[in-house]
Amino acid sequence: MDVSLLSILRCPFCGTRLSLIDNQALRRDGDAIESGVLGCECCAFPIVAGIPVMIANDRVRTAMHQLEAGDGEAALHTLLELEGERINAFRAFVTRPTGTYREALKILSLDAEAEYFVYRFSDPTFRVARAVVQAVGPLMARQGRYIDLCGGSGHLARSMVSDEAPVLADVYFWKLWLAKHTVGPHQDAQFVAPHCEPVCCDANNPLPFARNTFSLVALSDAFPYIWHKRLVMDEMMRLAGPDGVIVMPHLHSALGWNYTAGMPLTPRAYHDLLEPHRPRLFRDSALLDDVLRGEIDLTRDEQPESLAGEPALVIVATKHDEVFRRVQLMEAAVSPDKAIVNPLYRIELRGDVSVLTLTFPTPDYEDEFAAAKRYLPESVIVPGDVSRGIDAAALGVERYDELCRRMVFISAPSRYA
Ligand SMILES: [Zn+2]
Repeated sequence: MDVSLLSILRCPFCGTRLSLIDNQALRRDGDAIESGVLGCECCAFPIVAGIPVMIANDRVRTAMHQLEAGDGEAALHTLLELEGERINAFRAFVTRPTGTYREALKILSLDAEAEYFVYRFSDPTFRVARAVVQAVGPLMARQGRYIDLCGGSGHLARSMVSDEAPVLADVYFWKLWLAKHTVGPHQDAQFVAPHCEPVCCDANNPLPFARNTFSLVALSDAFPYIWHKRLVMDEMMRLAGPDGVIVMPHLHSALGWNYTAGMPLTPRAYHDLLEPHRPRLFRDSALLDDVLRGEIDLTRDEQPESLAGEPALVIVATKHDEVFRRVQLMEAAVSPDKAIVNPLYRIELRGDVSVLTLTFPTPDYEDEFAAAKRYLPESVIVPGDVSRGIDAAALGVERYDELCRRMVFISAPSRYA
């Protein structure tokens, strides 16, 4: 955690500023705080692995006591919810310089969500979310930080490019740890989004940030699973202030059918919750059509009632009308990125060519993300052994660009899969 984050952090309960307590737990290197304890006027919160944990429960208190007793490793394991054999697997993993995001997921995640994360960069839901953030972001970049709420392990935060580090907020500490983690001899190999500032917090409580702090507040996918919906919407408007923009991609609608729907509301209800911030509603499916054409059209403005039957919608809310425009999308690579074969493809070497076959992890995944077949070809043959790396020159510029556009090759962090 960079010490500058203190200027925007607030206690979720008493609302006061946080300060670093000068005790045994404090480890800092210049402005970078690796571990420590933050105090407000009502309680205290630990910083572990550079991640402030703005939650008050028994697990977090245990971690804080371990930290204050000088056992930072135990505090990390407590927050990662590791026990028994998984502690040994994690220890072995972090001492190995060649580990990948995908391998770490297998240790840290106990459910099927891990599978989704690995394939996130090419799923249609994510492509729309990223496109909307990229379309809106450049207008907002000079006015303050971005925040990705309930942002998981940082896929969307990774595409948030602005002068100040974007904040990645999530209730699951392990997801934030994965986002931030770097490996390699110079800590220069990335998992997902090491440039972000992770903050562990629970969206069912007031959010631990000052008002009018963020020029862009994004919350993708997670909203229907949150119980305190009115609180979250009010909090997003508080964080965005009068000039910020709120972006909510892939909101499940109660008037359409969705996999793992959560507790969705009707489009009218979403609209009304954000009404003071002038929300505009978009069909998720129409924006995917846009993305596949390379241009996103935010000049549309659907009436909530017209979205009946549409499974999901996207909301962009802002008082700045210039945000609602047409934007050409660029598949700009985030530095330092590399092209990899999409993990959805099985690679088989036959003589001097590689045969790539689209292989969905489960029938459910294939069904839920069926729209991905609009761009992912069933099979592709390319020269050379692409499991060792992609040789763009050998493929020729046109063929390489086409395979990138079809997402057979994706741009990913250096230690992704
Ligand atoms: Zn407090």
